[in-house]
Amino acid sequence: MSPLSTPPVVIGAGLTGMVISDSLSRSKIHHVLLGHPPSAAPRLGESLDGVGSRELIRLFPEFQHFFFQKKHIVGLFGEYVMGIYLEPPPKIHRIANLALGIKLDDHLLHVDRMGFDSALYEHIRASTYCTPMDMQVESLEYDAIHDKIEYIRLSNGENLAPRFVYDCTNHIRLLGKALDIPVQFTSDVQRVVFTHYQANSNDSKFDNGEQWQHATNLLMLCADRDFLDGAAWAIPLGSYVSLGVSMPFRDNPLEDGEAIELVLQAFARRGLDIRKLYPHNSKIVAIPRQQYFNHKRAYGANWVLAGTTFGQAWFPTSSGFGAALIAAALAPEFLKRPEIAGPWYENYMRRITDAHTLFDTLFTNSCENITRDELQTLVDGLVTNNLERVLRNEQLRNNRLRRALAKAATEFVYRSKAGRNWGRIMQVDLHEQMAYVFNQVWRTW
Ligand SMILES: Cc1cc2nc3c(=O)[nH]c(=O)nc-3n(C[C@H](O)[C@H](O)[C@H](O)COP(=O)(O)OP(=O)(O)OC[C@H]3O[C@@H](n4cnc5c(N)ncnc54)[C@H](O)[C@@H]3O)c2cc1C
Repeated sequence: MSPLSTPPVVIGAGLTGMVISDSLSRSKIHHVLLGHPPSAAPRLGESLDGVGSRELIRLFPEFQHFFFQKKHIVGLFGEYVMGIYLEPPPKIHRIANLALGIKLDDHLLHVDRMGFDSALYEHIRASTYCTPMDMQVESLEYDAIHDKIEYIRLSNGENLAPRFVYDCTNHIRLLGKALDIPVQFTSDVQRVVFTHYQANSNDSKFDNGEQWQHATNLLMLCADRDFLDGAAWAIPLGSYVSLGVSMPFRDNPLEDGEAIELVLQAFARRGLDIRKLYPHNSKIVAIPRQQYFNHKRAYGANWVLAGTTFGQAWFPTSSGFGAALIAAALAPEFLKRPEIAGPWYENYMRRITDAHTLFDTLFTNSCENITRDELQTLVDGLVTNNLERVLRNEQLRNNRLRRALAKAATEFVYRSKAGRNWGRIMQVDLHEQMAYVFNQVWRTW
């Protein structure tokens, strides 16, 4: 069959592929979106960083019934609790608001991905600029001399000759493998298990007035007291909580359900009884092998590794959703001015890798060896990195003055490490940790 000459092709109809498709449609660019529509299963990526939250509110106000405000980040690390209250100091808030129009306090979100993803798929399908094809890419033809993808071969035998390719296949690394792009694996192999716990109420506004219901709750499990090593999360989303754990892959004989039970018990041991408010469990999803990575190159003559396809970062960075939206913001620019979009994008993605490294250092340590200084370095680095990325994102605005201010502010935040002292670290008895983090830590702000 002779190849069809096509417009740009987006490979993968997950979150990244969908937001890129939306961005191309907004710029009136005809394109093909390849891949299966989102399923109804629980998925990862429900707690968002500053960039993800801000862009989501800006682009999709009609879907705000799937968004939940995140006011705190809580970390339970051995003897220590970490609290980040997401209301910034008034001075920084005023500067950001006046100079850049950014309201820093009300832009951090949790997202009901099942509801949002299926609504988004219907939205992008309705665009006349998008041709969705529920089909897989079987293989590629690559011209290494010109660094160009010539053909894409589909599962129905058809060939496409794409003008540009957005690879949104995530850990499948379709282009990474086919083009032999050097890749670096940046963590030990993990096994991930996650699920949702449902409240008695189905009301998406369900709120019992407990502060943890507005926090991303992170927990480092320690085998000596929790019977499991790993990093767990509890992310409340109205009428349900997303609960999961990432465990070292090595010699772990636990069944998926047993691992989830140990996570619930570990949270309860620290004062958070999730099942009291959310008693009903649902289907457990497992990723048997998960390993974080990043590629040496993010783009070529007619292709880009979009969002987590370029590189994945430890989940508490909450950066996957934001990375997808950054790739989407640049999607039309990759067609118009690739020489500008490419380096800018790669630079941004490397900053996410820096955030990843902060967590990987922590997670390769054992609970007993964690020190207060180490945690303070993590929190300071994480907040600075987030602020810097929010400001980098502002550099993409149309207003020239705002762009220049955002550039200067990015440099200032980076050099001054402006995220210092945003979060608090306290040493607290295990069973009092959850109560303490809300009743004490933030009052000292
Ligand atoms: C444990 C864990 C926790 C996480 N938590 C967070 C978080 O709290 N916040 C956050 O922002 N991010 C988080 N992430 C990252 C988040 O999961 C991702 O950013 C996001 O879901 C990735 O979406 P995606 O569209 O890039 O990839 P996917 O959802 O994996 O979509 C890839 C798509 O490509 C398709 N595909 C693959 N191969 C082909 C082919 N040959 N042809 C056509 N289609 C193909 C697949 O079918 C799939 O639909 C987490 C990740 C992990 C591992």
